[in-house]
Amino acid sequence: MDHLLKGMHQFRTKVFDQEREYFQKLAKGQSPSALFISCSDSRIDPNLILQAGPGELFSLRNAGNIVPPYGASNGGEGATIEYAVSVLNVSDIIVCGHSQCGAMRALLDQKSTDNLPLVRSWLGQAEATRRIVTENYPQLTGEIQLNAAVQENVLVQLENLQTHPAVAAKLQRGELTLHAWVYHLETGDMLSFSSDSEIFAPLRAESQTGVSKSRRTPGTVRKKKTSRK
Ligand SMILES: [Zn+2]
Repeated sequence: MDHLLKGMHQFRTKVFDQEREYFQKLAKGQSPSALFISCSDSRIDPNLILQAGPGELFSLRNAGNIVPPYGASNGGEGATIEYAVSVLNVSDIIVCGHSQCGAMRALLDQKSTDNLPLVRSWLGQAEATRRIVTENYPQLTGEIQLNAAVQENVLVQLENLQTHPAVAAKLQRGELTLHAWVYHLETGDMLSFSSDSEIFAPLRAESQTGVSKSRRTPGTVRKKKTSRK
């Protein structure tokens, strides 16, 4: 804990003081351009990965970057999405999974949550991901199966997002774009799903990343080889 307190002090005395004007402007209001939905995993730092400053990203984080379908639970997820879309008017929503995701690993190995009733119940919201992977790719095991689950999961969550009325209405008006991304801890690469090619491919500064249709042919994630650099 000591190093966290030292960090807080250093931020207050150095960073904040140097950028005082910027932070004081932020205190008057926020207008982030994107809602970034990612895993709670400590190795994922959305602002660092996207080199975004305070005020640029509205963030929603939980185990497994899960978006419960509208009405499935009255938790903070729906409220955060509704506020981001209807009040902050974000133009983009990014669902970002990641390699080595412990939540996806636990989803595939249900025994691992025998003594974690709340985790098991939460991951039940991603049951569609588990069924897609186990039924459509029965030949996959180990890390390859895990990577397939991570990719399928962001696509499932993108579909769940569209059950939220605020999202559905803005999508139809063309005022909102959805993105399915996967971050690789090992390389720093970000992969993005393209609904035209139906593959996850490395994202570049000039890439068009929006998903115009999130529904895809069953099994496409593993049928078409994920292209790497
Ligand atoms: Zn994770």
